[in-house]
Amino acid sequence: MNNFNYSIPTEVYFGKGQIKNLAEIANLGTKVLMVYGGGSIKRNGAYDEACAVLHEAGTKYYELSGVDPNPRIDTVRMGAELCRSKDIDVVLAIGGGSTIDCSKVIAAAACYDGDPWDLVLDGSKIKAALPVVTVLTMAATGSEMNGNAVISDMGANEKLGTYSHWLKPVFSIEDPKYTYSLPAGQTAAGVADIMSHVFEQYFTTVSGGFIQARLCEAILKTCIQYGPVAIKTPKNYDARANIMWASSLALNELIGYGSGMPWTVHGMEHELSAFYDITHGVGLAILTPFWMDKVLSDETTPKFAEYGRNVWGLSDADDDMTTAKKSIECTREFFKSMGLPETLTEAGVEEKSLPVMAAKLKNTFKKTYVPLSEADVLEIYQAAL
Ligand code: NAP
Ligand code: FE
Repeated sequence: MNNFNYSIPTEVYFGKGQIKNLAEIANLGTKVLMVYGGGSIKRNGAYDEACAVLHEAGTKYYELSGVDPNPRIDTVRMGAELCRSKDIDVVLAIGGGSTIDCSKVIAAAACYDGDPWDLVLDGSKIKAALPVVTVLTMAATGSEMNGNAVISDMGANEKLGTYSHWLKPVFSIEDPKYTYSLPAGQTAAGVADIMSHVFEQYFTTVSGGFIQARLCEAILKTCIQYGPVAIKTPKNYDARANIMWASSLALNELIGYGSGMPWTVHGMEHELSAFYDITHGVGLAILTPFWMDKVLSDETTPKFAEYGRNVWGLSDADDDMTTAKKSIECTREFFKSMGLPETLTEAGVEEKSLPVMAAKLKNTFKKTYVPLSEADVLEIYQAAL
């Protein structure tokens, strides 16, 4: 296990009715910029409940709505401008990963003199940020507890992730009831995203992280147990609660400490979203089994067999290679069972774009679990087509 510094500062208020703790925002300032997406928060009660608490807490709030899924740099620019003109003290994100990511970069851009895209290209340029608070309405990204943000410039076909500890939310409200209104497709995409976050950290060549591997497996099993339940019965509290907490634990740094490596499938998915604006979790669900097919080899077979036995309960009687192959099939079938598309064609991706996307990634995966060349990446995209 490698050395690491534990730093997960976000306070989480988890469970029914925790929105009352949004009143704590008054300790961070009196002027709030409330950021949200296309209006789901007005239909599921989160907006009304948040406004009531903000009002009661004596804060003055401004609104920035219309954050797109795959949030745009233009929205960040608009938000940063609002922060300056209204002298905002704190940015409040109410929504899913897109709204939270957008809010984080707004908060940093409000404290930066240049163009916000600089901060997306290079997180080390973030030297300060307004405090960020979140009310989570979709279990997927872990953005509610981490320092990551993913922003797109669709004009340039760029979707890039940035990171800074300044972006970590001060506190997050996680009430699983806000996710009751999530449609089945978004629930499934969220579960696929959570599982992908775990895969990116579970498949590592850093040895010795026994405890990290078991934590990863627990999160994967939680997704497998409760993803289908949440899809079938959207108002099942325990299903929504377990998935929501899995979302936060999968990407708040905890499971990567000591064994983390550069990621692969997320990088490949970001190209799909940058060119076709597809739903992040959908792209991951399509690519993941094909990535697994590609990286399975004599060297990686024991790890995949471990995955098959510990996560899918596959029999000890089979040899490692048989178990490894079955584990990939289980993964593929699971995503399919949640109604997620299996091919890039179904998601609207065209063959002509594959070489362009692969070329953009040609130097990206040199130190990953299994290093991938441009040709390898293209092969995965083509297999997934
Ligand atoms: P999202 O893009 O925030 O939301 C997807 C859709 O779900 C939106 O149309 C949204 O509608 C709707 N929605 C959200 N909550 C809802 C609810 N409770 N009921 C009904 N509809 C609801 O989804 P996401 O998967 O959480 O975020 C995806 C983004 O995060 C991508 O850009 C991805 O690359 C990025 N990401 C970030 C990290 C990170 O660590 N920061 C990690 C992985 C991925 P409204 O717009 O109307 O609210
Ligand atoms: Fe993700």
